[in-house]
Amino acid sequence: MDQQNSVAEARRALGRRLKDAGIESAELDARLLIGEATGLDLTGLIVQAERVLTLDEAERLDAFAVRRLAGEPVARILGVREFWGLALRLSDDTLVPRPDTETVVEAALDHLRAEARARPLILDLGTGSGAILLALLSECPDAFGVATDISLGALRAARANAAALGLADRAGFVACDYAAALGGSFDLIVSNPPYIPASAIAALDVEVREHDPRRALDGGEDGLDAYRRIIPEAARLLGRGGALVVEIGQGQGDDVAALMRASGLAVPEPPRRDLGGVFRAVT
Ligand code: GLN
Repeated sequence: MDQQNSVAEARRALGRRLKDAGIESAELDARLLIGEATGLDLTGLIVQAERVLTLDEAERLDAFAVRRLAGEPVARILGVREFWGLALRLSDDTLVPRPDTETVVEAALDHLRAEARARPLILDLGTGSGAILLALLSECPDAFGVATDISLGALRAARANAAALGLADRAGFVACDYAAALGGSFDLIVSNPPYIPASAIAALDVEVREHDPRRALDGGEDGLDAYRRIIPEAARLLGRGGALVVEIGQGQGDDVAALMRASGLAVPEPPRRDLGGVFRAVT
């Protein structure tokens, strides 16, 4: 990249390069990457638009461009992604939190508000970056939570996110396979487990296939393996009036509801749709 470029020129040039490569979010990506390369926030990018990039900044930006053009998501390059208005740090062991998963948060909040229990205890199975639990704790100042993950790297990221958001004193993190090590009674259990059928992984977008951990995607032959584990554990761990809210993949609503009923859980509502209109969460 030309080291004489101004911030604005470099931003435009990168936007064009990404657009020519068929990246739909080219302009947004270019802004985020130049912000990361220069340390400038949105205001800084405007105020310092005519400043010439330093050699270091230009080199960093070029390295980011190469990674982005190779299909790495911006969230991976930045190491951070916003979810429910919270900035979450990612690691190689965590899924990039998706806007779709905010549907799980919404359904869970509806349940918590309807039950209106004081100091509700929440369990998040396979927490990854901690997205769902931390969103719920940020909304419910008297709630407490436990999050599990089989990946120590994911738990490290989740714990760091809890600390950075000032939520660490209400969240505990346990290394275990879903709820295998846990006893007790919870008011709400949430999970976004791996649910992609193994045979469908090869057809996923490169940004997902190559950059999200396979363990967070692969739901076994029919995509439902995780639910066969989680739902009986939830039936064991839910207190009276408690609820399980799980994210589901496209077309999995009926199967997941049937698994819940088979474990003695009622399924009072149809699945909830995400912003794209896809059924995304079952309570
Ligand atoms: N929603 C993710 C995707 O479509 C999958 C996440 C998951 O398996 N829980 O790529």
